[in-house]
Amino acid sequence: MHIFIKSPTLVPCPKCGKLILPHTVCPNCGFYKGVKVVDVMKKLTKKEKKKKEKEIAVKGKEKEKTKSLNMENLSKK
Ligand SMILES: [Zn+2]
Repeated sequence: MHIFIKSPTLVPCPKCGKLILPHTVCPNCGFYKGVKVVDVMKKLTKKEKKKKEKEIAVKGKEKEKTKSLNMENLSKK
């Protein structure tokens, strides 16, 4: 079976930012709608794991940063 469906619309994964097909589990981080569906780390070697963890962690940090900044602004007067 070699059927390839053309998919012109890719959306960035909310977890790692990788372009993925909408409404599918992200093959890069294994998350779907913020829920870990596939343990992608299991298949990876130690080196790849580290790289991916970093990739995903950077995305998460960006979110944390904006969150804490907003908190600061709220607490300061
Ligand atoms: Zn992802």
